[in-house]
Amino acid sequence: MTSTSQAYFERAQNILPGGVNSPVRACKSVGCEPVFIDRAAGSRMWSVDGEEFIDYVMSWGPMLLGHADKAVEEAAVAAARKGASFGAPCPAEVELGELIREIMPGMELLRMVSSGTEATMSAVRLARGFTGRAKVLKFDGCYHGHSDGFLVSAGSGVATLCIPGTPGVPDAIAGLTLLAPYNDLAGVEAQFQAHGGDIACVIVEPVAGNVGLIPPAPGFLEGLREICTRHGALLIFDEVISGFRAALGGAQQRFGVRPDLTTLGKIIGGGFPVGCYGGRKEIMAHIAPSGPVYQAGTLSGNPVAMAAGLATLKRLAAQDYAALERRTAAFAGELADILRAKGRDIVLNQLASMFTLFFTKTPVTDYATAKTSDNAAYGEFYRQMRAHGVNLAPSGFECAFTSFAHSDADLEATLKAARAVQI
Ligand code: PMP
Repeated sequence: MTSTSQAYFERAQNILPGGVNSPVRACKSVGCEPVFIDRAAGSRMWSVDGEEFIDYVMSWGPMLLGHADKAVEEAAVAAARKGASFGAPCPAEVELGELIREIMPGMELLRMVSSGTEATMSAVRLARGFTGRAKVLKFDGCYHGHSDGFLVSAGSGVATLCIPGTPGVPDAIAGLTLLAPYNDLAGVEAQFQAHGGDIACVIVEPVAGNVGLIPPAPGFLEGLREICTRHGALLIFDEVISGFRAALGGAQQRFGVRPDLTTLGKIIGGGFPVGCYGGRKEIMAHIAPSGPVYQAGTLSGNPVAMAAGLATLKRLAAQDYAALERRTAAFAGELADILRAKGRDIVLNQLASMFTLFFTKTPVTDYATAKTSDNAAYGEFYRQMRAHGVNLAPSGFECAFTSFAHSDADLEATLKAARAVQI
């Protein structure tokens, strides 16, 4: 019998490429079809067929308070009743901006946009406009959205110039992106030796979350800060995932390293489409209309999204991050032990309310070591957990996220499901 999800996926494939509006949702790499979701609340989601899931995707990070948080929902509904969009300034964008700066003092001036991609793309344009340099250094396996210059493949090792990782990105653009392995300061130094005078910025996920979770090695972020300062390049922390999650004040607070520019997304919109970039005043003052670097958006600072973001950050400021981190560490540790007891090699990376179980025995510190994880085994684990009512990321190279809405009972039920998995 065809389920309602299957019926929707059939229809979706006739209207959306691959049946989805964002590739990983198709569940291809875990060898199954997606579940269509009807609604979500707290730690739970319900499919259009009425199946219930304990969720560890949490919309890929935004829902740190849990789904459909009452305060966020009420703020968004109240704002929507006053009009969805004005195309003119509104109080909430100022209030959210001020609250972000209070929590992340390095964001002296900031600009709201509508996605993480827009935030990183705009920050790089600003870095180029400010420094008068063209090249950008990023790290193997880090993801900064889908704008052209970020979609370069690693090639082999520390390639100096890169080829496009996707058709549609001209070599002339891909060639402006330099790569180094994550956690490898020597690789960064080598790129600066070769291209120092041309590098506008180094952009990094200060806690890498897009090949699975990889924490920064001790000294890595401090080293980047020092190298950038020495060479006159800007340091951009892409905190689209880690902002308000690695700590309330993000990875920059947790590790005590201040970048020149920061990019945010996900959590600051409370589930609505919001991104943001900001940083040192003298740099941000180059953005139009106060300066010459152009960047704009019809829906930027959208009143409904701003209201949801404001309610989210106010609620987060009152949460016990340390307690959630302790509970997540204990839970993820038990999950890893359950799989080890079934004979699997598991490397667990965990930080704050994020973790990844890599199916490998090699410690995972960069993209190359992440790739040693057995994705077929992860796929098997994913499918069986889903059948037991647990929604994990539909890819072995992503983070799992807990939230303040995950109860001890949720975590215990998840461990029970994992014990029942045959792998
Ligand atoms: N930067 C990072 C670190 C991300 O994880 C993502 C999305 N997962 C982005 C940028 C892009 O954000 P968006 O999907 O909102 O464009």
